Amino acid sequence: MTAPKHALAIGAHPDDCEFGAGGTLAKLANDGWQITYIIVTNGNKGTHDKTLSPFILSETREGEQKNALDVFGSGHRVIHCRYNDGELEASMALRLEMCVYIRTLKPTVVFTHDPWKQYMWHPDHRAVGFAVLDGVVSSRDHLFVPGLRQVGIDVWRPETLYLWGAEQLDHFEDISTTLEAKIKSLTEHHTQLDNAKGWEERTRNRAAEVGAMAGFTAAEGFKKMIV
Ligand SMILES: [Zn+2]
Repeated sequence: MTAPKHALAIGAHPDDCEFGAGGTLAKLANDGWQITYIIVTNGNKGTHDKTLSPFILSETREGEQKNALDVFGSGHRVIHCRYNDGELEASMALRLEMCVYIRTLKPTVVFTHDPWKQYMWHPDHRAVGFAVLDGVVSSRDHLFVPGLRQVGIDVWRPETLYLWGAEQLDHFEDISTTLEAKIKSLTEHHTQLDNAKGWEERTRNRAAEVGAMAGFTAAEGFKKMIV
């Protein structure tokens, strides 16, 4: 029996992984894959509610993120890096942190933000995209971070990297059977979406639009990179 495959999705904020790849991840979970999320910031600035403290907000969002992933089944995992929202930089430190996670968790595939998306305004999305891409290089090549191998953390090469939010889509996943799970998972992010008008309609419309490019009722599109 082969070991179950493992998908790692790395997002800047709670809800990014679901918006970017939720339908695909739900499908993989249904097929017996293990899903791990790494949420790099604590999401403590993304509210218009002036009564909500950033401390309460970040704690609430961790709970919401767990509930959102539980929609895809039990046994999956969320790791929180807890950097402050809005302050990420694609630093060497963040790159090395991503390298250690990838080497340790040994994912088959990695999903993250496309940092090259034109006019992508949020600094955290760009920073996470670059840190993950650079972290994959450091993870797979043995002369990068040589001290890690001396403490038993050996190289790991995921098979494929999928970038969500990409402008040049070259991989389409049929999510017609898991679009509802994606929406249900997103609705668990109450502090972000309860008062956000139109997100569900936009998400459904986008799934239909991307689906039409590939002949599916609903799809998610990615830039696929072979590692
Ligand atoms: Zn985000």
